[in-house]
Amino acid sequence: MTEPVLAGPRPAISEIDVPSLAAWLSARGEPAYRAGQILSGAHRPDAAAFDDLTELPRTLRRALAADFRFSTIADSHVMGADGGMTAKAVHELADGQRIESVLMRYPARGAAGERTTICISSQAGCAVACPFCATGQAGFGRQLTPGEIVDQVLHWHRPPWNALGGAGRGHYNIVFMGMGEPLNNADRAFEAVRLLNDPQRLGIGARHITVSTSGVVPGMDRMITELPQVNLAISLHAATDELRDELVPINRKWPLREVVAAGRRFAARTGRRVSLEYVMIDGLNDTDEQASRLAALARGWRSHVNLIPLNPTPGSRWSGTPRTRIDRFVATLRAGGVPTTVRDTRGREIEAACGQLHAQLSGRSLREAREAAALPVASA
Ligand code: SF4
Repeated sequence: MTEPVLAGPRPAISEIDVPSLAAWLSARGEPAYRAGQILSGAHRPDAAAFDDLTELPRTLRRALAADFRFSTIADSHVMGADGGMTAKAVHELADGQRIESVLMRYPARGAAGERTTICISSQAGCAVACPFCATGQAGFGRQLTPGEIVDQVLHWHRPPWNALGGAGRGHYNIVFMGMGEPLNNADRAFEAVRLLNDPQRLGIGARHITVSTSGVVPGMDRMITELPQVNLAISLHAATDELRDELVPINRKWPLREVVAAGRRFAARTGRRVSLEYVMIDGLNDTDEQASRLAALARGWRSHVNLIPLNPTPGSRWSGTPRTRIDRFVATLRAGGVPTTVRDTRGREIEAACGQLHAQLSGRSLREAREAAALPVASA
C-alpha cells in the first residue's frame, strides 16, 4: 500500500545522510570533510540559514541553498502562554499541510537546572480518531518525513528561540506527543529519533526522547530492538475495553490486554519504566472502578501512571475532571502501589492541547493569524 507522504522538492539538510552529502560534495570537487562541517553548522543554535555557516566558502553556501532546504517548515505562527514558559507553533509545510509543536519550560528545582520539553508531531493529522482530541477529529493528512519531524525541534533550537542552546545539553526532553500516532509512521519516526540522537547533529540522548503511542503493539515491539533506550509512553485513557473502544478506537484492533502485555515486554526487556498516560474526563473515566482497574493493570511491573486533566476541545461534550476527584483517583492508584503523577496543564489560553490551535487557524493564512495576534514571528 502506498502511504501519503510528501516527496520534497529538495532534500532537507536535517535528514540528508552523510554518504549522500559526501557524494554531492565530491561532484563539486569539494573535500569530504565538508560534510561534517555542514551538518554541525546547520545544527548550531545561531544558524538561521546556510548563509550563516561562514566557515564554508560563499560559493558552497550558495550551492547548498540551491540544492537543499535549510528547513522543511515553510512558515510558523507562534503563540506564547504561561508567562513565557509555554509557546506553541503551528507550522506550515511545503504542501500546505499544518502541524503543531509546543515548547514548555520548567523552572529550576533544587539542584536540577531549568528543564525544557519540546512536544512534536509525527503525522499531519491522525487516523486514530480519539473523540476527545482535536487532531483526531480533523482526520488524517499524511505521514511526516524524518526531516519534517526533526525540523520541529530545530525550529525551537534556532533563532529567535534557541531553546536547546540556552538550556544546555541534558536538560531538555523531546516527546512525540503532538499530532499523529508515531508508531503508525514508525520507519520515519524511528529515523527521526536516530537523527536527533546523532552526535554530528543535535546529539540528543535517547533517554531524553519519549515516543508516545495509543497502543500500536507491533510498533511497541519494534522499539524493544530498534530503540531500546528511548522512553515509551502508552496513552491508555481507560481501564476497561468497553470504555477504551470508545475513547481510543484503535483499542478494537489491539485491546487493553495486548497493549499492557506489550508495555510489560518493553519494560522487562529494556529495564525502562513505561509511562501510562491517562487523560481525565469528568464523570467518564475518572470513577473509583476505573481507578481500581487501572491500578490492577499498572501494578507489579515497571510502570508509572501520568494523569492529565482534559483540556476540552471547543464544543466538546466532555470537560476535565475536577481537582478533588483527581486527588481521589491518585489516592486509589497510590494505595494500589502504583507510582502516579498529575501532569500540569499548559497553555490553556493558547489552545495548547493537540490539534486545537491548528483547528482554530483553519482557513486563515499564518500571516493573517500573526497580524491578528501581533505576536512574535518565527519563519524558517
Ligand atoms: S489523542 Fe493521539 S492517537 Fe488519539 S487522535 Fe489525537 S493524536 Fe491521534
